[in-house]
Amino acid sequence: MAVRKSNKYWAGFDLGGTKMRVAVFNADFKLVALAEAKTKGFKGVRDGVRRMAELLNEAWTAARKKLPPRARLAGVGLACPGPVNVVTGVVREMNNVGWHNVHLGLMLSRLSGVPVTVINDVDAGTYGEYRFGAGQGGRCVVGVFPGTGVGGGCVLRGELLTGAEWSALEIGHLPVMPRGPLCGCGQRGCLEAVASRLAIAQAAAAAAYRGEAPHLLAEAGTDLQNIRSKVIAKSIAAGDAAVERIVRNAAIWIGVGVGAVVNLLAPDRIVLGGGLVEAMPSLYREAVGIGARKRAMRTYQNTFKIVVAKLGDNAAITGAAAWAQKKAEGCRL
Ligand SMILES: [Zn+2]
Repeated sequence: MAVRKSNKYWAGFDLGGTKMRVAVFNADFKLVALAEAKTKGFKGVRDGVRRMAELLNEAWTAARKKLPPRARLAGVGLACPGPVNVVTGVVREMNNVGWHNVHLGLMLSRLSGVPVTVINDVDAGTYGEYRFGAGQGGRCVVGVFPGTGVGGGCVLRGELLTGAEWSALEIGHLPVMPRGPLCGCGQRGCLEAVASRLAIAQAAAAAAYRGEAPHLLAEAGTDLQNIRSKVIAKSIAAGDAAVERIVRNAAIWIGVGVGAVVNLLAPDRIVLGGGLVEAMPSLYREAVGIGARKRAMRTYQNTFKIVVAKLGDNAAITGAAAWAQKKAEGCRL
């Protein structure tokens, strides 16, 4: 007997500070079509959501050309930075996009005519890795994605760990350095204030300015915007020892944060993802391990594995789409 193929398709939407990406997946979560555009959050919420709906439509139109006529877009998983209300779809502080207190789920759903499930972007990335990548088979999987900020997520026995209404695991705002540098959230000494890509780029730019990182200076100058993950990795590979020390130090701080989370949740798997980790996987895996094992209680020191994410840029879109499907159909995976 032939198995009837599902005519339902799912989209994952990743709303980032600089770009937005949307992909359409089939029921087996194979990518069918992908579309990207600049976020341009400064143009305001109304214009932004309209362009989000257009981008979704563009991806779905491209997908339809490859799909049978009965194909139907059943839902969208919308991954957003910062804390999100998983019940109402409200996003309160998207500092990188510049939008605050927005009913994003409802607005995109109204414009596109498709149900929208809002999810934190690193929760989405962690769920994607849990279902299809480096987190498969884990019982308590914690994802840590250092980037412009430092995001965290946790999948516990197949469910995302959230509060009653709000997404959780804001690991970037763990206090790690009393009276440390000021964080975007208004506090001092948060993990992301000492270990994000921005913090690394600031220290690396200063090293380049002082003449301690000649390869970085030649490649990118001292402009923070040009000191991207790949440029940092390249300067280390070329022999900029000062930059390597800066990144290693930041990664050890990430490990300190991971150690604190290990003491709280006793996860069996830590998945490291995001651009910095992708550009320097072995440096991160090793240095985070050092920081985490130093910080975790003795009981937990050998109870978790640190692994590098496998899905790259597609972790969040894949995870968001799969989460939207799970919420709609209640599949147990
Ligand atoms: Zn903070």
